[in-house]
Amino acid sequence: MPYRAPISDYEFLLGHVVGFKDVAATEKFAEATPDVVSAILTEAGKMCEEVMAPLQRPGDLHPARLENGVLRTSPGYADGWKAIAEGGWIGMSGDPEYGGMGLPMTVTTAVNEMMSAACLSLQLAPLMSQGQIEALEHHASEELKALYLPKLMSGEWSGTMNLTEPQAGSDVGALTSKAEPNGDGTYSVTGQKIYISWGDNDFCENVCHLVLARLPDGAPGTKGISLFLVPKYIPDENGNPGVANDLKVVSLEHKMGLHGSPTCVMQYDGAKGWLVGQEHKGMAAMFTMMNNARLGVGGQGVGAAEGAYQHALAYALERKQGKTPSGTIIDHADVRRMLMDMRADLFAARAIMLANAAAIDMAKATGNADWAARAALLTPICKAFGTQTGMRVAETGLQVHGGMGYVEETGAAQFYRDVRVTAIYEGTNGIQAMDLVGRKMMDGGEAAARLLDEIEDHAERARATVPELAGPVWEATESLREATEWLVAQEDMNNRFAGAVAYLNAFARVLGAHYHLIAALADPDGPRAKLARYYITARLPEYAGLLDQAQIGAGDLFALSADELAA
Ligand SMILES: Cc1cc2nc3c(=O)[nH]c(=O)nc-3n(C[C@H](O)[C@H](O)[C@H](O)COP(=O)(O)OP(=O)(O)OC[C@H]3O[C@@H](n4cnc5c(N)ncnc54)[C@H](O)[C@@H]3O)c2cc1C
Repeated sequence: MPYRAPISDYEFLLGHVVGFKDVAATEKFAEATPDVVSAILTEAGKMCEEVMAPLQRPGDLHPARLENGVLRTSPGYADGWKAIAEGGWIGMSGDPEYGGMGLPMTVTTAVNEMMSAACLSLQLAPLMSQGQIEALEHHASEELKALYLPKLMSGEWSGTMNLTEPQAGSDVGALTSKAEPNGDGTYSVTGQKIYISWGDNDFCENVCHLVLARLPDGAPGTKGISLFLVPKYIPDENGNPGVANDLKVVSLEHKMGLHGSPTCVMQYDGAKGWLVGQEHKGMAAMFTMMNNARLGVGGQGVGAAEGAYQHALAYALERKQGKTPSGTIIDHADVRRMLMDMRADLFAARAIMLANAAAIDMAKATGNADWAARAALLTPICKAFGTQTGMRVAETGLQVHGGMGYVEETGAAQFYRDVRVTAIYEGTNGIQAMDLVGRKMMDGGEAAARLLDEIEDHAERARATVPELAGPVWEATESLREATEWLVAQEDMNNRFAGAVAYLNAFARVLGAHYHLIAALADPDGPRAKLARYYITARLPEYAGLLDQAQIGAGDLFALSADELAA
């Protein structure tokens, strides 16, 4: 089934819903006019439709493999990477001084989402490079930036992120990789990293690893970690790949999905590395990359949802079964329910993602701390709800196909398998929810309250035209405010954490309703108002049960002992 890039959806969301006009009105992003943005999205969409989408199935059928220590990527992936690189899609938001396009993150996020919908496995490669580019821009020395950034942005070299070790997954502070100063400004990095996405490839001249490791005088836990740039080939005096560094891919993981993306066990044996940022401040530097990647992974979920929706819709339009006006299953009420759920949630998740990116752009363009706080608040919601929507939509898409969804030929099952990991990597969705109710509420819930004020103000104004939609949005927001106040008042963090996932999902439901309401007002007689009506009537009410759950506290969760759970 061919992929169709949803350009008009982005144009509508950017033009009317997520505040992109404010971004384009800043001096920094003044060149991002609607015409320019539409042209960029159209060009990227064409590449996704024509180059990347045809690689989706071959990557699944012919996973990356390791042959005598040499990594071989899936058929066609080298050409796919070339098209991504030549289109300039890796350095889209990169600093123009180093070869980037300097575009708003909002535009990059839309392009990344399209690439994810077309071929998730391959898209993970440029996503890793983009995160590394941002981390280096913020934290690397001028020498490192001058050498690495142009190569990463052009796609001659690629980037990875290396946090995870067998005993250090969610608890990154438990890592044991070590770094020793060499006395010449470089370091020797030793340790094993697991699950490293795109740890190697056969289409770039060099692969640059950002590796977290501890210096001899590094304190235990996250406070004592430093970040190092460790290239596969050590650049020579001309900046070209020179001798091989002391690192290798030990093996590749066999996975449920995402087969085209090589997930590597990496071994570093005194590999030469360069410090990025300050000693012992590696987590702060890595967080730049992780926040970029969290938005990106939320976008992967949204992209997978779009791909799965398009597949399911095409099938429903063709499959004849039962007596319906059209003769096909699309006229069965339950099939309609599935398609409407998919489409309405997809709109909500995409709007949250783009609003998150727009807040990042506003923070960058204005330096205003409120925008930075808004972006920080939205990031865990975007990551968790985007990926959850990807999983749910892919699962529902499979159901629309009936038995044909369970067999592999239709591709419905691949979306389901591929997207599953997005809820796990880049901080599991549970960890995202804890971040939302923990770190992101350390301001006493102020950033959340500001956002809820805006949503209520908007709903209040919308009452005059669409009271039946605006009323439920206002009421849901008020309930969310009460739950937020309850959460912030909990001194026992376990009480907050117990309800964190439910709270995050309720927050996302309310945000989704807010953006649907804006859409309904912008397109009062069109399909977007009808979709908004469905979302607010059928999807939003979930918030009430979720908020009840968010406030149960930890008591009942621990009522059964571990032994009783096992009995
Ligand atoms: C395909 C794939 C690609 C990946 N790519 C990369 C990569 O490129 N670079 C990289 O560094 N890593 C990568 N990862 C690793 C990924 O980020 C980790 O798997 C993830 O962070 C979870 O760590 P873990 O697997 O050790 O699970 P664990 O941390 O053991 O978690 C197990 C369960 O316990 C929960 N849990 C753990 N701690 C807590 C806590 N404090 N509070 C509440 N719940 C908790 C988790 O939410 C989860 O449900 C990848 C993983 C996969 C599968």
